[in-house]
Amino acid sequence: MEASQVIKLVQRLTEMRTGIGFDVHQLKEGRPLIVGGVHIPHPLGLLGHSDADVLVHAVMDALLGAAKLADIGVHFPDSDPQWKDANSLHLASAVAKLVERTGWEIVNIDALVVAQRPKLSPHFKSMAANIAQALGIEAQRVSVKATTTERLGFCGQEEGVAALASALLRARLQDQEER
Ligand code: MG
Repeated sequence: MEASQVIKLVQRLTEMRTGIGFDVHQLKEGRPLIVGGVHIPHPLGLLGHSDADVLVHAVMDALLGAAKLADIGVHFPDSDPQWKDANSLHLASAVAKLVERTGWEIVNIDALVVAQRPKLSPHFKSMAANIAQALGIEAQRVSVKATTTERLGFCGQEEGVAALASALLRARLQDQEER
């Protein structure tokens, strides 16, 4: 094998990709507040076609983006009745399988929820564990944190909750030919 071929092979075997995700859902009375698969007691909940799990949606978009597989709107359109009230963790499992089939494995996820209330930190560990389980990875590869916006804007005024996520993928060695 020539040196240039070896370099190309090493590059393919060690390739990594990053992706970002962002989502927003409106807060409404009479809806459950489900964030990272945790049902949090609160007078307001998130409005959406599925369970409106804003955190899991941002994570899914980060993964799809890193693998260049479009976005959740393409894979799970809200015009499709089969996704009505869907458990977003189930959708995340489907995304993880898709990412894997495309020749990638998940290195880590970092995610941030932007909400004025309620306090989310008591639930970070459960959220990370739920997401990791859905994705089929160790919990220590998933970081969940939160911030407020000092009462500014739609998150600060408790009109909605936003979430951001980044994902890092690395090449799966056994699938080099598929990618
Ligand atoms: Mg969403």
